[in-house]
Amino acid sequence: GGAAEPPPKLVLDLERLSQVPSDKAGPLQRYAATIQSQRGDYNGKVLSIRQDDLRTLAVIYDQSPSVLTEQLIGWGVLDSDARRAVQHEEG
Ligand code: C2E
Ligand code: C2E
Repeated sequence: GGAAEPPPKLVLDLERLSQVPSDKAGPLQRYAATIQSQRGDYNGKVLSIRQDDLRTLAVIYDQSPSVLTEQLIGWGVLDSDARRAVQHEEG
C-alpha cells in the first residue's frame, strides 16, 4: 500500500483466546484482561490492542513480534491481517 495508508489493527478474538489452554495463553489472557479493565470495556468479543502492546507481549513470550504474531494467528486469536501490522513495525 501507499505510505499514507495506516497499518492494519491488531484485533484480538477474545472468545478464541479464552479457549486456548492457559499454560500457553495465560500471560496474554491476563494482559488482555488488564487492558479491558483499564478501558472499562468488558462486553466486547474483540479487543483492539496497541502496536506497542505486541512488542511488550513479545518480550513476555521471549519471541520476536513476528513469531508471536504467527503463533497468535495459529491459535485463531489474531487474523492474518495482523501479519501486515507487524511487517509495518519491523519493516
Ligand atoms: P492513557 O494512555 O493516558 O489514555 C487516556 C485515554 O486516551 C484513553 O482512555 C482513551 O480514551 C484515549 N486513547 C489513548 N490512546 C488511544 C488509542 O490508541 N485509541 C483510542 N481509541 N483511544 C485512545 P481509556 O481507554 O479509558 O484508557 C485508560 C488508560 O488505560 C490509558 O490511559 C492507558 O494507561 C490504559 N490503557 C487502555 N488501553 C490500553 C492498551 O491497549 N494498552 C496499554 N498499554 N494501556 C492501555
Ligand atoms: P485507533 O483508536 O483507531 O487508533 C489508531 C492509532 O492512532 C493508534 O494505534 C495510535 O497510533 C494513534 N492514536 C489514536 N489515539 C491516540 C491517542 O490518544 N494518543 C496517541 N499517542 N496515539 C493515538 P495503536 O496505538 O496501535 O492502537 C491500536 C488500536 O488499539 C486503537 O485504534 C484502539 O482501537 C485501541 N487502543 C489503543 N489504546 C487504547 C486506549 O487507551 N483506549 C482505548 N479505548 N482503545 C485503545
